[in-house]
Amino acid sequence: MASLHTSATMYFTNCSSSSSSSSTTARLLHFTATKSPNNVSHFHRPSIPLQIHISNPNFPNTIITRSSSSTTEVNSVTSAKVIDGKRVAKDIREEVAVEISRMKNEIGIVPGLAVILVGDRKDSATYVRNKKKACDTVGINSYEVRLAEDSTEEEVLDHISKFNDDPSVHGILVQLPLPSHMNEQNVLNAVCIEKDVDGFHPLNIGRLAMRGREPLFVPCTPKGCIELLHRYGIPIKGKRAVVIGRSNIVGMPAALLLQREDATVSIVHSRTKNPEEITRQADIIISAVGQPNMVRGSWVKPGAVLIDVGINPVEDPESPRGYRLVGDICYEEASEVASAITPVPGGVGPMTIAMLLSNTLLSAKRIHDFR
Ligand code: NAP
Repeated sequence: MASLHTSATMYFTNCSSSSSSSSTTARLLHFTATKSPNNVSHFHRPSIPLQIHISNPNFPNTIITRSSSSTTEVNSVTSAKVIDGKRVAKDIREEVAVEISRMKNEIGIVPGLAVILVGDRKDSATYVRNKKKACDTVGINSYEVRLAEDSTEEEVLDHISKFNDDPSVHGILVQLPLPSHMNEQNVLNAVCIEKDVDGFHPLNIGRLAMRGREPLFVPCTPKGCIELLHRYGIPIKGKRAVVIGRSNIVGMPAALLLQREDATVSIVHSRTKNPEEITRQADIIISAVGQPNMVRGSWVKPGAVLIDVGINPVEDPESPRGYRLVGDICYEEASEVASAITPVPGGVGPMTIAMLLSNTLLSAKRIHDFR
């Protein structure tokens, strides 16, 4: 790996925006680092070779093995491996692109994803734009419908019905949240389950929850969390896992997925008493709460694997935007205790869109019986 320079780097770390009561002191830490051309710091940790064996049954033609012995990207504090969602997501996008081009060449079909956006929330518009961009990069056709905030539920249902019947569309996604005058349940129920690439249809969630049943699609964010564990070779079977958060879109399906992988799963939510006592028993923690730095180092069992879904903006006067994004897990503290951890940003976030692309490909393959 090319090194631009070597320098003693200082990191000023804190978890001061945590809602937790335990105290943390800001610390100044010294490291020797090299910087790669894209200005990413790589810390020399020859003792922790990082090996990723990438083999995915959805992509039988692609097996990638990566290893790095002398320069391993590790977190900026101590021992935890960084689970690099950005890199894994890039690999998945490349695999999806290869399969899409094979499908196009062999049967002349190009997968299509339809997105319905209602209202003018800036964050939703950004997510939709990013999804469209990602579709373009892998060769998925994207179709977009934008409706005004005061549109009726019937209009949304009408568009869903047209996409349900459109053979060039293999995946339908309704960007959430919907305006408050609409019934989210009615809308999500209207997407036919064969095109429910978000995996939010109650039939898909129900099948996920039942033994011996297979959902047609698994929700993208929790699927991305499990994919990261798989691709980093982290065993799940027989492990104790704790999911923090129980939302329909992340926490609950993440817990179901871990259970399907034979983990023993506990769920922590806003009414849980002494959550840290429960998380301290976990070999794997998936946190999807939306509280900056809530999970402190003292909540983590030594050697645990930490998947941080939370994306929380916190004030940062030094950032040009005036804020920066942090996770639910206090990275600086927890990475001193954990064996592996996802950063925020660059962990679970990029995996969500990669899984959406993968689900859209899966749908097109299934509809056209292409293997
Ligand atoms: P959500 O619907 O608000 O659910 C939050 C969950 O956290 C709820 O189950 C809630 O418990 C629980 N919770 C809240 N405060 C808690 C506390 N103090 N202790 C323990 N549990 C607590 O949020 P979400 O949609 O699941 O999203 C969670 C986070 O993930 C957010 O930061 C969001 O931005 C992020 N996210 C990231 C991605 C990605 O692609 N990386 C995708 C989706 C979401 P109750 O059920 O008891 O209320």
